[in-house]
Amino acid sequence: MAKQEDVFKKIISHAKEYGFIFPSSEIYDGLSAIYDYGQNGAELKNNIKQYWWKAMVQLNDNIVGIDTAIFMHPTIWKASGHVDAFNDPLIDNKDSKKRFRADVLIEDYCAKLEDKADKEIEKAAKRFGEAFDKKEFESTNPRVLEYREKQKTILSRMAQSLEKEDLGDVKALIEELEIADPDTGSKNWTDVRQFNLMFGTKLGASADSATDLYLRPETAQGIFVNFLNVQKTSRQKLPFGIAQIGKAFRNEIVARQFIFRMREFEQMEMQYFVPPGTELGFYETWKEKRLNWHLALGLGSENYKFHDHEKLAHYANAASDIEFKFPFGFKELEGIHSRTDFDLSAHEKHSGRKLQYFDAERNENYVPYVVETSVGLDRLFLAIFSNCLKDEVLEDGSERTVLSLPPALAPYKAAILPLMKKDGLAEYAQTIFNDLKYDFNLFYEEKDAIGKRYRRQDAIGTPFCITIDHDSLTDNTVTLRDRDTMKQERVAVADLRRIIDEKTNFRNLLSKI
Ligand code: ATP
Repeated sequence: MAKQEDVFKKIISHAKEYGFIFPSSEIYDGLSAIYDYGQNGAELKNNIKQYWWKAMVQLNDNIVGIDTAIFMHPTIWKASGHVDAFNDPLIDNKDSKKRFRADVLIEDYCAKLEDKADKEIEKAAKRFGEAFDKKEFESTNPRVLEYREKQKTILSRMAQSLEKEDLGDVKALIEELEIADPDTGSKNWTDVRQFNLMFGTKLGASADSATDLYLRPETAQGIFVNFLNVQKTSRQKLPFGIAQIGKAFRNEIVARQFIFRMREFEQMEMQYFVPPGTELGFYETWKEKRLNWHLALGLGSENYKFHDHEKLAHYANAASDIEFKFPFGFKELEGIHSRTDFDLSAHEKHSGRKLQYFDAERNENYVPYVVETSVGLDRLFLAIFSNCLKDEVLEDGSERTVLSLPPALAPYKAAILPLMKKDGLAEYAQTIFNDLKYDFNLFYEEKDAIGKRYRRQDAIGTPFCITIDHDSLTDNTVTLRDRDTMKQERVAVADLRRIIDEKTNFRNLLSKI
């Protein structure tokens, strides 16, 4: 456990030290669960957005992208169910005075049971070696079966109690399982209460005429209320999708996991509108497509798993999360939801406007069904950043820290490094910089020993370092150093554009999806 915490601390401090993520308002001691992206963080985040946008909008001729406002008519949140049902069950520990999400305490308890099952499987795999049949073992070993059965019972009881709003039983479950405050061990809990996660604000100049508004807790509603505008102006036929990237705000009860759970964050959501009755097929397709999108990043397929929901949200008839192995365990990264016609029908009712589609093939009007894919940009950033940050011991015994980002996502594609400033090396390096800057984001640096400069580029994930020395002036070649292999080769300046492009182009990721 201590080791996990150390790893996480290292990630947070590296993110700060190298200009990726700063605590917001730091000189005023920060603001809880709010973060700012620094110069390298903003580049990485923009590249992740591009990867998503290109995969959704550019690769699919039936998906278009929009950008809607954060402020929306307040009735939208009544229609969507957020005013009445966007709650989390909250519980306080009376001794430590710390606040928790009751459902997360129970889920964490179940995750520990799953860890125990995994350990049994690992032990057996070692014992049996090549002859090990994982499926067979999982379905017959009494201990694994018991751990899994127990989880199922606990989670389905929690789901039922939450569904029935029986918060007394949620507390009873916490007590029966003897769940303690993870930091202090205290089991002295308050009752469980519901807490609405939306932030309220006001629109208007004077207090009496001001309208109560909410900061949007998800970007999806901006898509729903524009469904007909987009469908008509884009002339799309069903099935078609609308994608959006934007800020969302949630007054989270507990926010202790860096950018995993923030109060202001960004979502990348896509709503896919389909004929009623076909939604579950598209739901399966999108589950697969989205997982492939993640896998193309090359962070390791063992780090992803689906978690199908027991408790469905008020709008869904099927839902699954893609979970990722964060430094603190498997947690939700993306949600894929079959949202039925819940949202469009609710907006029809509350707005009095028709939100229907005429299907020429079926020769009928209907409210489309929707399959949604929703991924948190900041969570994705954390997944990529934490997975790629590595400490390596080199052959000569020295150490380096390297951020082995997928090259297309790296803040800088190459660093241009004149060995020294004098003798015209800096001028020559500038010419290379000026030639390549139209195609790539480049870093330029003259100061410090070359080894030190290489290490700094490794730490921010730059795939290539280009060193200009005295020979460069006469033979127009440079030393090209690869971030991952650390191999150095002499290449012609004229080949640089092609070499950098081959490695860092988004094509590399997109063609793998
Ligand atoms: P959780 O169970 O972790 O609270 P959720 O199920 O409420 O998440 P959704 O409403 O499905 O999340 O939102 C879609 C995605 O938005 C999530 O998969 C996650 O990546 C991201 N997300 C949600 N809440 C936050 C948050 N507070 N901070 C950062 N990202 C978030």
